[in-house]
Amino acid sequence: MKPHEFQPESLMMTHGYKPELSEGAIKCPIFQTSTFVFKTAEEGKAFFEIAYGLRDKKPKEELGLIYSRINNPNLEILENRLCLWDKAEDCAVFESGMSAISTVLLEFLKPGDLLVFTSPLYGGTDHFINHFLPSIGVDVLGIEPNQTINDIKTAIAESGKADKLAMIYLETPANPTNALVDIEGVAELSEYFSASDRKVLTAVDNTYMGPIWQHPLEFGADLVLYSATKYIGGHSDLIAGAVLGSKEVMSRIKVLRTFLGNMISPNTAWLLLRSLETLKVRMTQQTNNAQKVASFLNEHDKIERVNYLGLLEEGTSQYKIYKKQCSAPGAMITVNVKGGEQQAFEFLNGLKLVKLAVSLGGTESLAQHPGTMTHAGISPEEKAKMEISENTVRISIGVEDAQDIIWDLQQALVLVNEPKKELAYS
Ligand SMILES: *Cc1c(COP(=O)(O)O)cnc(C)c1O
Repeated sequence: MKPHEFQPESLMMTHGYKPELSEGAIKCPIFQTSTFVFKTAEEGKAFFEIAYGLRDKKPKEELGLIYSRINNPNLEILENRLCLWDKAEDCAVFESGMSAISTVLLEFLKPGDLLVFTSPLYGGTDHFINHFLPSIGVDVLGIEPNQTINDIKTAIAESGKADKLAMIYLETPANPTNALVDIEGVAELSEYFSASDRKVLTAVDNTYMGPIWQHPLEFGADLVLYSATKYIGGHSDLIAGAVLGSKEVMSRIKVLRTFLGNMISPNTAWLLLRSLETLKVRMTQQTNNAQKVASFLNEHDKIERVNYLGLLEEGTSQYKIYKKQCSAPGAMITVNVKGGEQQAFEFLNGLKLVKLAVSLGGTESLAQHPGTMTHAGISPEEKAKMEISENTVRISIGVEDAQDIIWDLQQALVLVNEPKKELAYS
């Protein structure tokens, strides 16, 4: 037989776990322990030399288990499995998506550096970048949606800080509008602005698509980040995050994680190992459902606009980016209900099967109002630029029967009253 390479979904049940080390248990137990017994003092010394980078690893030498803030079998097996989807050299898992994102930003940005970011971004990331980073002397420059790579290049050049550029951070598709950014184009910009002693990093939040429908590292990104709370966890029962990249960048992130102490717990890592077994199945069903739901919404006369990757018009620049970097449209749909906040709320309040809650990517469908919920902290002017309007509703499609979801949206739309007069939309 010819050698055969298994797909990630075939390896999610077994990769990186040795049953013989756990009494033959088919499933990895939860290693609910703070510390690990060394066989000898010499072994403990050797493990610390590696963990603290005091010397390079010898050929075939592995970092032994020391202490659960540094490593733990559940955490390590989870990291090894996540590497398979993105074909990454290394991964670090965190206690939340925000801890993954903030650790990356803190490790690679120093006072005086410039961070360029695309908008919109997840509300928490937006807050950290616009409110925390400037307080420690990091300059930040936001790029509005639908800017070409050339526009971004000009904005960086005109900032007068191009020689201080340390990172370009993007979220694509962006939460909550599904706006796309050309990952390869941005990675080329990072390259262009790098100097021999200063590599500009490209970091991509891939929460909406990943790790199934988009692989940013393939397009030249240096770091890919996830809120594992969303699709990777997929059951709305945990909070976690992940970062993947080369061994070189990941070793810096892992050292900072060790000292911030924001690594994932053995129990949460174990839950994610279980989630990973069905990740592809879930995301496939969610995406199939979303395509049907989006077509339904697109035809509905109480819906003014549907932002869904599966409905992008051929020939547009967004469509070209979609075709280049995404393999499916995913399961996040954002709509504008005809009218204003009142109509959006009538729709949300009328839902029965779909739950009114923030978060996304879980097995159950969820809907929320970005303007007053996930993106409430953003100023009205910024919201207008990001195309988050009073009538915008974000829907995360779950694994339910598609016709049941459509029935629910249909009956909730019946409860939406026609707007009385012309309302000012942003
Ligand atoms: C939810 C989310 C985050 C934050 O993740 P937490 O797990 O809630 O900390 C970051 N980015 C995106 C795109 C998200 O949707």
